[in-house]
Amino acid sequence: MTNGKQPLLSVKNLQKYFPIHGGVFYRHVGDVYAVDGISFDVYQGETIGLVGESGCGKSTLGKALLHLYPPTGGSVEFEGVDIDTIPVKRLREMRKEMQMIFQDPMESLNPRMSVGSILEEPFIIHKGEHEFDTVEKRKIEILRILKEVGLPENAFDRYPHEFSGGQRQRIGIARAIALKPKLVVCDEPVSALDVSVQSQILNLMVRLQREMKLTYIFIAHNLSVVKYIADRIYVMYLGRVVEVAESQSMYEKPMHPYTQALISAIPEPDPTLKKEKQVLEGDVPSPINPPPGCHFHPRCPYAQDRCKEDLPQLRPVDGNKNHQVSCHFAEEIFNQQPSGTSEPAARN
Ligand code: SF4
Repeated sequence: MTNGKQPLLSVKNLQKYFPIHGGVFYRHVGDVYAVDGISFDVYQGETIGLVGESGCGKSTLGKALLHLYPPTGGSVEFEGVDIDTIPVKRLREMRKEMQMIFQDPMESLNPRMSVGSILEEPFIIHKGEHEFDTVEKRKIEILRILKEVGLPENAFDRYPHEFSGGQRQRIGIARAIALKPKLVVCDEPVSALDVSVQSQILNLMVRLQREMKLTYIFIAHNLSVVKYIADRIYVMYLGRVVEVAESQSMYEKPMHPYTQALISAIPEPDPTLKKEKQVLEGDVPSPINPPPGCHFHPRCPYAQDRCKEDLPQLRPVDGNKNHQVSCHFAEEIFNQQPSGTSEPAARN
């Protein structure tokens, strides 16, 4: 989806390492390789899904995109401007265009502030950058936003603890969209909610995206949630992207064994349909000392000797640059599957 246009966000070889210090002299003894060389472009109006288990680096990547974590290497360009090289004042102004929705709104909403004050805060921080320059104008706008996200007017004077989880997430969304941003990074926005509430919040996000032409980076550990909302999905493992594809292609033809395992873990709503589940052995290895070669090899049922030494790079599947995988044997593995299904046939 390039259309010859400039991407809204362009990420090139982004790295974020967290140094580890230890010993008597508190020396630098290693790094946590949270994000290790990730590149992608996002165009206005798109939704990009970032998926993977806990510890794969997806939330760190989300924060690095907004420069909440300065990168160790690589670059993030927003509307063609490298956000790591601009003055702090310009970065602050740019934040108006780049907002974040958090997993747990209780942690991100100040419990001592009324909802009205919480929603007024962005307008005060970005004073002079919008037309709501009086208390009255801001109140009218905040009441409009509350209605927009499905909250009653009387929410204005109430406090976060007086609301349910779903309503609190609506407050978080209201705060994120208050200044009409272009990009919203959504960090597991529905993971903490009941399934019935999840779909309400996802529907709200889809409607807001349509009406406000928002661009989403949607972070989730659950592929079924991302399937509903994302145009393109990036599957991450230990700080790297192991597969990228358009949403439908990812579900119909998952090429990486890790993606296949994630898809097989999605519950089948129809109990009469039998689904072979692929259970991954072990936990995600430590990002402090990732396994050599393919980082997935200690858990991969298809691993061969080459996998232990040779780190696979992302490469197109069947010449399709919109579907890329980092596995030496992806085609052979996929072709071992029973015909007519995207369910993988695990070898062990
Ligand atoms: Fe498995 Fe080897 Fe492919 Fe890695 S490169 S996913 S270890 S088969």
